[in-house]
Amino acid sequence: MERSAAERSRAATSRDATEIVLEGRFGPADRMRYVLVPFQVPAGVRQLEVRYSYSDRVDSDPRMVDGNTLDIGLFDPRGTGPGSAGFRGWSGSHKDEFVVGEDWATPPYSAGPMPAGTWNVLLGPYKVGPRGCEYRVEIRLDPDRSPEPRDIVRTGPPIRPRLPPARSGWLRGDLHCHTRYSDGDSWPAEMLHAAAEAGLDFLGVTDHNNVGHQADYGPGGGAFPIVVPGVEITTYAGHWNAWGSDRWWEFREPTATAVEEAIRAAVDAGATVSINHPKPFGPAWEYETVGPTHAVEVWNGPWGGLNVASLAFWDERLRAGARLTAVGGSDTHVLRGSDPDPRHAPTPGHPTTWVDAGPRPDVPAILRAIRAGRTFVSASPSGPQLYLDRTAGGLSVEAIDAAGCALMVIGPAGTVAAASVDSDAWGAEVPLPTDGTYVRGQLVAANGEVRALSSAIPLGGSAAG
Ligand SMILES: [Zn+2]
Repeated sequence: MERSAAERSRAATSRDATEIVLEGRFGPADRMRYVLVPFQVPAGVRQLEVRYSYSDRVDSDPRMVDGNTLDIGLFDPRGTGPGSAGFRGWSGSHKDEFVVGEDWATPPYSAGPMPAGTWNVLLGPYKVGPRGCEYRVEIRLDPDRSPEPRDIVRTGPPIRPRLPPARSGWLRGDLHCHTRYSDGDSWPAEMLHAAAEAGLDFLGVTDHNNVGHQADYGPGGGAFPIVVPGVEITTYAGHWNAWGSDRWWEFREPTATAVEEAIRAAVDAGATVSINHPKPFGPAWEYETVGPTHAVEVWNGPWGGLNVASLAFWDERLRAGARLTAVGGSDTHVLRGSDPDPRHAPTPGHPTTWVDAGPRPDVPAILRAIRAGRTFVSASPSGPQLYLDRTAGGLSVEAIDAAGCALMVIGPAGTVAAASVDSDAWGAEVPLPTDGTYVRGQLVAANGEVRALSSAIPLGGSAAG
């Protein structure tokens, strides 16, 4: 990160009684390099309003090119370093203006003390088009803005659907969604309501580069899914989720070293971590390393959205000896009307991640199951369900609500066994290869689409999974 943003971007600062203006330009060489642009806040200020604009704007969707996408965030004088308490929030390119004050802040920014001194606007030129990116940030001191009332459209007790029962101890959930605390269109209460009405038992809440949504969600439970607190660390060369973590993790340096360091720090702090949507337009995972991650989001949004590439990414690492759990995420962003972005599922639970949480379902049990690889992923909350268990003679497979699918058991050298599933309560014993190190299962429909896939079960040594 550059401290001397003023020089690089020719930032010009002017100030009248209430307004600070920061202007500058990014060239193509500045692409994907965050800069800090400092400004001074005098003592006694209780609220800031930040607005920004820039030339040749295009959407952040990685398929859009030939224009500019400029991300923004804010740090107060308590610091700008990794994990610093000075971090007041990051809104990518999805908010043109926001308020940060003592009493309230525009989500995802945090309200709180307004220390005098050097604050920094964080600017991230994610895309810079051929004509460069001219930007202008306007900051008003004490504009006396009031919070906008919330328009919550999903209220009341959720109506849970009737779903096929899961095996004892297994829970169904979704591990990836977005609200107004990043680029989603709904409030956490609404996302939780939608997840309850999808029939889910847990919901991983993963707004981009923020944790402000977690307090808004609360713990869930009762008629609602258990909330698994999380964050989607969104870098310019790949996204990763950290669950069971209530702080932000470094996202500004898109290098393999920096991302590996950040993943390691999160894992060391007890977070459960996955590499997200490693497939074209995911956006993809462009790092060689996956660090000490626990899981891969093998299935993100609709299966047809290039999840074959994520599956290949995961398979390649399994073959290389990595122990990585398979998880899924709907990446739901839009609950009001239809999402024009085909990468995202329209409702939570598509796909659904099933975890063997055992007799006491809570957040630690869910995260333990993910770390231990006791999961499978299915197309929807109604299944199909796919359970693999080691037995003395080999592998026992149970497939529920999968009539018409093919079961494939796959090891490092390829398909170990295949069978057609001819009933909705189907089971088989599969003899295991003597030379493989793991097997995994998947249920595939006649049109070739994967309907469910399990985590890998290690072979050799003691039975696991
Ligand atoms: Zn993502």
